[in-house]
This record gives sequence, C-alpha cells and structure tokens, in this order.
Amino acid sequence: MSLHVRSLASGSSGNAFLVRTTEDTLLVDAGLSARQLERQLREHDVEPHTLSGIVVSHEHHDHAQGVGALARRFAVPVICTAGTARALGSVLQGVDVRLCHVDGITVGDAELWSFPIPHDAAEPVGVLLRHGMWTVGIALDCGHVQAHMVPALQEADLVVVEANHDRERLLATVYPWSTKHRILSDQGHLSNLQAAQLLEAIMQDGRPRDVWLAHLSEKANDHPRSVIQFVRNYLEMVALPPLSLSVAQRDRPSASWHSDQALQQSDLFHIC
Ligand SMILES: [Zn+2]
Ligand SMILES: [Zn+2]
Repeated sequence: MSLHVRSLASGSSGNAFLVRTTEDTLLVDAGLSARQLERQLREHDVEPHTLSGIVVSHEHHDHAQGVGALARRFAVPVICTAGTARALGSVLQGVDVRLCHVDGITVGDAELWSFPIPHDAAEPVGVLLRHGMWTVGIALDCGHVQAHMVPALQEADLVVVEANHDRERLLATVYPWSTKHRILSDQGHLSNLQAAQLLEAIMQDGRPRDVWLAHLSEKANDHPRSVIQFVRNYLEMVALPPLSLSVAQRDRPSASWHSDQALQQSDLFHIC
C-alpha cells in the first residue's frame, strides 16, 4: 500500500493538497477556483470525477473557494465538520456532504480523522489520513498550539503545519492593525516560532518523519529557504536531530511526498 501527497497550493490565496492512496484520490481543501482545481487535477493525471472526496478544513475562502462547483460538477462528496457545512451553507447545495469525526470515517481506501484547531472559523479541524501503515497529518490556520494537536500529529509520517509569519515582519507590514491583531490572536495563524515549537513537541517521540511548512504569508514572512533555516536552527538549538523539511509553495504545485521514498529513508535511518 502506498500513499502519495502533493501540494497544489498553500497560502492565503488558496490551499489544496492532493492525496493518492493505492486505489483512491482525495483533495484536502479546495481553496482555488473550481476551474483551477480541475486543470491542476488533470495535470496530475486525475480525472475530477474519480475523486473519492474533498475534505474541507474550514469555510474560509482560501480553503473552500472551489469546493461547491467542483463537487457539484463531478458529483464528488465533501467531507467536513457540521459547523463548516453550516457556514458554507448554499455553497454545498446539491452536494453529498459527509461529516468528519474525531473517531474517524472511511473515505475510499483511506481512514480520515479530524481534530479541532483554534481558528476564527465555525468548526475548523486538522485532519489525519491513513492508508495502510502510512499517515499524513495536515493542520493549517491555527492561532496557537493546543496540547491535543501534538499526539494527533505524532501519528503522521508526513506532517504539514503552517508557518504563517515572522512576528517582527508582520508588525512591520502595511496591513491594518485589525488584520495584524487577527493574525497574531489565539484564533489566527501560527508564527514561524510557534510552528518550530509545535515541531519540537511532536519530535519528542524520536520517530523519523517528514515535515512541510505551509501557508507562508507573502508579505509577513521571509523567503521559504530562510523559513526552513529558521526552523532548522530552532530544532538544533533545542538539541533535536535534523528533520526533513520542505515548503509547500503559495502559488504553484510544489512539495511531493511518497511513502515508498519515506520507507527507503527509514531503512537508511535504521542502517545508520
Ligand atoms: Zn487559510
Ligand atoms: Zn482560515
């Protein structure tokens, strides 16, 4: 059994992750237009009508922009919390909606669990998708780290977390104070430091895993290479071993993870 994850886009202008299991393909978030998503799926050799589901973490435009049109056009079920479904309202009219749950549901040949995350949306969640022995965990748009998020994400072989902003840069941007206040609040977005601290907590179990930093702000963060370096430096400072880190780029398909490669790396890890 193999699991393949590809970032199609990640940032305030749109988030979408393609998750392929042995038999099925899912989207996690549909924050691009339906037309853009359709095009990107085909560029990845996925016919939209073959999707087993579209998981929506919360109702904000950059996570749900294309969900209604794509789901209706290709009769694809949408999986989200009851609160997110209510907040999306007529966007999901005529769509087969399934509710995700902390106890897990089956989607195609994958298991999906959700866990709450603190964000200024109706009922936002992080998700874990498991296929065979492999799990991907995705937690974007978190105002702060809550204790339950750590064991949830420790389940994952690939962890996708947001590293939204550098606090000083954010304060120096021309954003209105209300926007800065929202981003910095407990219901806003994780800073690079908060993301590094979350990873520090996750990595206490000593298990090798890969990490993608996602949802980087265009104006309030450094170059992706510098963000990776910042997190590396932090983990080195707290005496944790180096981690395989990538950035899910804002505006184009980028990071890609395959369980077969992760298996080879973990074999190497054990040999070393
Ligand atoms: Zn977002
Ligand atoms: Zn959001």
